[in-house]
Amino acid sequence: METPGFLPMARLQTLIDTLIDDGFRCVAPQVRDGAILYDTLDKVKQLPKGVTQEQSNGRYRLHQTDSTRNFAWANGPQAIKPLTFAPREELWYSEVKSDGSLKFYQAPTETEPVAILGVRACDLAALALQDQHFQHSFPDPYYDARRKRLLLIAVHCTHPAETCFCASTGDGPEARSGYDLSLYETDLGYFVTAGSLAGEMLLHRLPLEAGDAALFAAARGETGAAADAQQRQLPEGDLQAMLFGNLNHPQWQAVAERCLSCGNCTQVCPTCFCHSENSVPSISGQSTAHERQWDSCFSPGHSYIHGITLRKDTASRYRQWLTHKFGSWHEQYGRSGCVGCGRCISWCPVGIDPTEELAVICKDSAGDSA
Ligand code: SF4
Ligand code: SF4
Repeated sequence: METPGFLPMARLQTLIDTLIDDGFRCVAPQVRDGAILYDTLDKVKQLPKGVTQEQSNGRYRLHQTDSTRNFAWANGPQAIKPLTFAPREELWYSEVKSDGSLKFYQAPTETEPVAILGVRACDLAALALQDQHFQHSFPDPYYDARRKRLLLIAVHCTHPAETCFCASTGDGPEARSGYDLSLYETDLGYFVTAGSLAGEMLLHRLPLEAGDAALFAAARGETGAAADAQQRQLPEGDLQAMLFGNLNHPQWQAVAERCLSCGNCTQVCPTCFCHSENSVPSISGQSTAHERQWDSCFSPGHSYIHGITLRKDTASRYRQWLTHKFGSWHEQYGRSGCVGCGRCISWCPVGIDPTEELAVICKDSAGDSA
């Protein structure tokens, strides 16, 4: 790759100012309540400069260092999913008119342009999967409106967490597609590349300097080292066949003895799209809002159909999560539903790691062990 233009660390504010001048709400990672989360930002000093993190099974801690870097950390609990697939939103509402008739209204869609700075490769891959679901398989006007307003500025990952395995799923640490602009971070500044026409136009308005080829090679080398540093991986082979060939494996019960069925793993997962819909009547009884909110295959209500809860116990719920995410997603969307972000490992209160569970279950892939 040719050496891209270089944006010195001291000029990063220019990128943010340009986005705001263009009418975008700039959203970027910031420290909130001991974690790195995405929130509205207008000053570069709001970025988590020098912050790094430590993650392992059921553990997440931030540490402050002397580093000049703003993106020397791996993803926190929150993906960019809430910016396209809202955790809770009104879809439509109805009201009784004065003549007694009933009128229905569709809730307005959001159109405010949003630029997200600092998106990681795994979250871009997750966004592509959510696009398949919400824009193609089940077109959703609310998702579509939010998705179309996004400008995505990726930062290639150089500091994977101990829980990351994006190299194993083929989704990172270097972002390869799905962004408008991408940044390779160094101690001195950023090498900037464009991934779309909008990104190209933005890039030409930035005060870029000629980049140093050796420094760029070192920056790219850091993303390669980030891949090499990852210890976890998915089992090799046909995961769908291995999982569905082991539906009665004793490990489902073994994991159920540890799993709290809390659903944290599905809430932090950037690809999970399960949701429920509810009607919320007003206290006057004259109107009703119809809302959608995130749900989880770990909630009893999610498998409740006509008076029967199909997945009554934790073993069957955990099996549903793993066989769908790593198995039948292949049929549905041509690949696994996991992008290797590792969030479900760090944010599981009892530290369950799906890569470990898969390794046990798939080891006996020769046949159903029951
Ligand atoms: S299953 Fe876990 S590691 Fe895979 S994308 Fe979801 S949260 Fe990330
Ligand atoms: S695997 Fe962990 S995070 Fe997921 S439901 Fe079970 S206890 Fe909760």
